[in-house]
Amino acid sequence: MGRWQELERRHYFQVARRLPVVLVRGEGCYVYDEEGRRYLDLVAGIACVSLGHSHPALVEAIASQARELMHVSNLFYTIPQLELAHLLCELSGLDRVFFCNSGAEAVEGCIKLARKWGKVRRQGAYEIIVAEGAFHGRTLATLAAGGGHYAEPFTPLPPGFVRVPYGDVEAIKRATTPLTAAVLLEPIQGENGVIVPPEDYLPQVREWCQQAGILFMLDEVQTGLGRCGAFFAYQLCQSPPDVLAVAKGLAGGFPIGAFLAGEQCAVLEPGDHGSTFGGNPLACRAALVTLRTMVEEGIPSQVAQKGRFLGGLLQDLASCHPLVKEVRGKGLLWAVELKRDVAQQVVLAALKEGVLLNNVRPNAVRIMPPLVISEEELAWGVEVLERAISQVEG
Ligand SMILES: *Cc1c(COP(=O)(O)O)cnc(C)c1O
Repeated sequence: MGRWQELERRHYFQVARRLPVVLVRGEGCYVYDEEGRRYLDLVAGIACVSLGHSHPALVEAIASQARELMHVSNLFYTIPQLELAHLLCELSGLDRVFFCNSGAEAVEGCIKLARKWGKVRRQGAYEIIVAEGAFHGRTLATLAAGGGHYAEPFTPLPPGFVRVPYGDVEAIKRATTPLTAAVLLEPIQGENGVIVPPEDYLPQVREWCQQAGILFMLDEVQTGLGRCGAFFAYQLCQSPPDVLAVAKGLAGGFPIGAFLAGEQCAVLEPGDHGSTFGGNPLACRAALVTLRTMVEEGIPSQVAQKGRFLGGLLQDLASCHPLVKEVRGKGLLWAVELKRDVAQQVVLAALKEGVLLNNVRPNAVRIMPPLVISEEELAWGVEVLERAISQVEG
């Protein structure tokens, strides 16, 4: 532990706030540290490791694809990419996809698509309406879309983003002008502390976008691929977007991102966009196996069920602990908001008892386990969280 901590301190950019544990192995919903201590993983690599650690089908697919063909670039046709494109379009109801390597790149692609669409279809409109508290990634354009403290050190940022309060459809209507090309939103704001908007928000925004003739774009990098109890969170409120970004859970922990669009707005042409590694056979095979497993085992609907179970446990916890202000979430993406900025102490106390949690905000603990977690494991995780909260309450 000490040696690795020292190397990190000396050689790694000091940008991450890491918990004091070195993880070396994972299996199912558990990970192990150097000393062989076991932890229940309620973080899942930030909502990525959907099928759990070292899922046999995923491990086998990655190993066999690595032996066969890992990367050749998009100068050629490769089969896993096209099979994945087909499946992802089928699942989302959208027509075209572009594969990249991360969530930020996926959203960056959506932004470029909206810019091009505005240029050719809406008299040069280029503005994108975004929400306060949003998080869309760490590239300059996605920082500009997200705003807040993540963006401040890096100004000047690319222009063209108009910010309105989250959850307020009237604010979007007021902000819409002839310069508006699109609205870009998260169905639930994960990084902002799992903020769930009013139920009719997305349907109303979608209706407004149709009426105003602008693109309705959703960033489902965190909420998508089963996390909220459906393949995509927009399916929970019947609000399919024109443009969609996904990443995190897409390949069960292997890096990949994608953006999709309906045919009517798929305006990108040869030369408009590209990515050297994007859509490589290895990442696409990992995603293909992850998605097929999710479909075959009906994982999204199981997540909906587990989400109701977890939500119940967390409500009970909230009702007996004065330190808890509120719990909120959907499926297997939840946060416990505290009345004081002590989320880190709570997470450290849980770590000592063998449970990994995430202090997503100074006053909020986020829970986002592998989607294959059992109710028994959830119950034990919440029990440990409860003890950790009691300890911090004093
Ligand atoms: C994590 C996240 C991103 C950025 O994904 P990276 O893979 O870290 O680039 C973008 N949008 C949302 C909603 C996210 O949760």
